[in-house]
Amino acid sequence: MSETTAPKSPVTAAQFADEIREQLTYHQGVTVAQATPADVYVAASLAVRRHLMDAWMTTQAEMVNGHTKAVGYLSAEFLMGKQLRNALLNAGLTEQFDEAVKELGFDYQDVIDAEHEPGLGNGGLGRLAACFIDSLASIGVPAFGYGIQYQYGIFEQEFDEQGRQIERPDYWLTNDEPWGHVDYNRSQKVSFGGTVVENADGTKAWKPAWSVRAVPVDYMVPGYKSGRVNTLRLWRAKSYDEFDLLTFNKSEYLDAVKPQVKAENISKILYPEDSTPEGKALRLEQQYFFVSASIHDAIRVFYPGQDKPDLTTFPDKITFQLNDTHPVIGIPELMRVMIDEYGYDWDTAWSVTTKTFNYTCHTLLPEALEVWPASLIGELLPRHLEIIERIERQFEAELVAKGVDAAQIERMKIYTGDAVRMAYLATYGGSHVNGVAELHSELLKDVTLKDFSDTYPDKFANVTNGVTPRRFVKLANPRLSDLITEGLGTDKWLTDLEMLKGLAPLANDDEFVKKFAAVKQANKVDFANYAKREYGFDLDPNTMFNTMVKRLHEYKRQSLKILALIARYADIKSGKVSADDVMPRTVIFGAKAAPGYYLAKMTIQLINNVARVVNNDPDVKGKLNVYFPWNYNVRLAQHLIPATDLDEQISQAGKEASGTGNMKFALNGALTVGTLDGANVEIRERVGAENFFLFGMTVDEVEAQYANGYNPARYYESDPRLKAAIDMVSDGTFSDGDRNTYAPLVADWLTKDWFMTLADFTAYAAIQGEIEALYAQPLEWHRKAILNVANSGYFSSDRSIEDYLERIWHTGSMA
Ligand SMILES: *Cc1c(COP(=O)(O)O)cnc(C)c1O
Repeated sequence: MSETTAPKSPVTAAQFADEIREQLTYHQGVTVAQATPADVYVAASLAVRRHLMDAWMTTQAEMVNGHTKAVGYLSAEFLMGKQLRNALLNAGLTEQFDEAVKELGFDYQDVIDAEHEPGLGNGGLGRLAACFIDSLASIGVPAFGYGIQYQYGIFEQEFDEQGRQIERPDYWLTNDEPWGHVDYNRSQKVSFGGTVVENADGTKAWKPAWSVRAVPVDYMVPGYKSGRVNTLRLWRAKSYDEFDLLTFNKSEYLDAVKPQVKAENISKILYPEDSTPEGKALRLEQQYFFVSASIHDAIRVFYPGQDKPDLTTFPDKITFQLNDTHPVIGIPELMRVMIDEYGYDWDTAWSVTTKTFNYTCHTLLPEALEVWPASLIGELLPRHLEIIERIERQFEAELVAKGVDAAQIERMKIYTGDAVRMAYLATYGGSHVNGVAELHSELLKDVTLKDFSDTYPDKFANVTNGVTPRRFVKLANPRLSDLITEGLGTDKWLTDLEMLKGLAPLANDDEFVKKFAAVKQANKVDFANYAKREYGFDLDPNTMFNTMVKRLHEYKRQSLKILALIARYADIKSGKVSADDVMPRTVIFGAKAAPGYYLAKMTIQLINNVARVVNNDPDVKGKLNVYFPWNYNVRLAQHLIPATDLDEQISQAGKEASGTGNMKFALNGALTVGTLDGANVEIRERVGAENFFLFGMTVDEVEAQYANGYNPARYYESDPRLKAAIDMVSDGTFSDGDRNTYAPLVADWLTKDWFMTLADFTAYAAIQGEIEALYAQPLEWHRKAILNVANSGYFSSDRSIEDYLERIWHTGSMA
């Protein structure tokens, strides 16, 4: 496949092949004849790293010596996806790599496949962080991503015979990992526990009980055509107490390594929850571990070799963006560092701290905001709890001075005496708070953080999320990228995505529309081949590919999709609809459920069994096909999204903060069926209401239903198709006759249905007719798909970063 738009390095393919040979020989000690594709992957990766090294060092040097404030993006998750192809693209070495690998006698795909995706995130939040650091580097903003190098990332998902989810550990570091540079000489000490004592002069000193060594593992983040290579610094926990000799002498070996195990557990595993709060001590240890190491690292970087740095200039050197509440303990930590370690007074420390931090909120439900028991913070971080208490006293005095009434002050407490509310601490302790889509930011102000918005209206801002067009268009969809470049006559759209608007007139050019349709068709054939190879599935690329991929969560409403699908199946089985009249559709799901999330896991089981029954039923053969490729990750997203005709963004209105999957689909020419939720609202505004399949209740209608006492059974009784679908789940059709298998799920639908799946069913089923009528007119369908691509340039993460620069960070790119 041609990669005509890559910025090409002057290195020839033959030279690059030599560089790979050299790495094979001098790094790995194998000959080309002995080498496996995995060896070539490592050697090629090391060779690309060498090409990026000068730019990386220059970027770091200019960042420290220059006058441009840097961005520190603090995030517990970075869902990077594979590195090699992205690095090749940005180093301008894609074509040379293709040829070099061939010359060495290897298959391009085998080498690419040898890379194990680092799954250091759960879903949207972690992927957003990865898109943002790509954009920061591509725009040329000096930046660090700071996070944790989990030894085990998000679990690998498999399905058992019954279609149930099995979680397997993700051993991503067991093979050579050429991208992360472990820098033992730049490690930091992070301490926990113990007590606080008062010094003779009245100052406080923390006497911690134990410490771990935070070792940075550095990943290069090359910008596309910017010449800049930023750093993603992920911390790994190492023990100081390698061996307790005394204990060992008593030959109690396991006891001797206990402290080491305890310390190193901190970076052992990524919590597999998505948006549900998890009150685990280890999680708080993780949060403090990476934030404390990162703050000390930034001081080391920006005040090199200085014992007494002038930290009043810290906010001019770096601004820390808190990606959700996970890093919020950084606020009391910077206070502690300035007061206890560098001797500043409280007011100076507070002024620096509030100027340094900003907070991105990803949550809508007040009950989902992270809260820590004060007892736990007191135990792990006693000095921080004291600082938080003092912040609370100062905050209350400030509110009283502002004339805020007592009831509201009570509601706004950061520290209640029992608990610490991290979102409130972040809002008070930083300069800005932003939501991640317009609707979400409005709801933050009106509901979730209303008291704060009323008191501090100037703190609140919106920055709508975005995705990187380099990974999600250029790498994922090279055919469409080439067609866009052909249509626009330039490849500059890859760094200026609003240029896609220039495609709009081509939606009326039948020749272009046919080329666009051919790209989609070829991508579908590719995906069918991929699904055959990876999963053993037989997808028919001549059917509509209808995709729903995202974490499995009740609010996202995979249930709505599966119930509508079952209703369709029931129509055909009952003879209400003739199979001949059914437009053939292939429905593809991808989703991981949190291991402890019972109803989500049961929904996965149901989908798998609906797939089994429907795909084996001769009555619907070729008409309705359901597939659930396991282990949805960035790699699968990159293969599936470009092949999708119709994507599903059907969350209950007011629950999805933004979504970014929706943006990836629109940019790849899928049409969306969706609710007025998150960024769907803005996507629909931009692509045009006539090019978006809207259905379902609005936020206000949802609120009215809650207020009136929502009764799902009413919908079950009033829509016979919904009733037939739910009855089919109950009657054992998808559980070999066992009527108990899905009983808890059915009971939840009929008596609780908190996210109102049943209430939206009728509207969702009704819009399917409209979708199928349009799909029957391919030219019209693809015209609308082109208009989706043309009008989605706004959803580039480059634009999100420009918005952060302007509204929140007040900094820019390096000269
Ligand atoms: C984009 C992405 C997500 C987020 O999808 P939403 O539909 O916005 O929830 C999750 N996982 C992966 C692997 C992604 O690439």
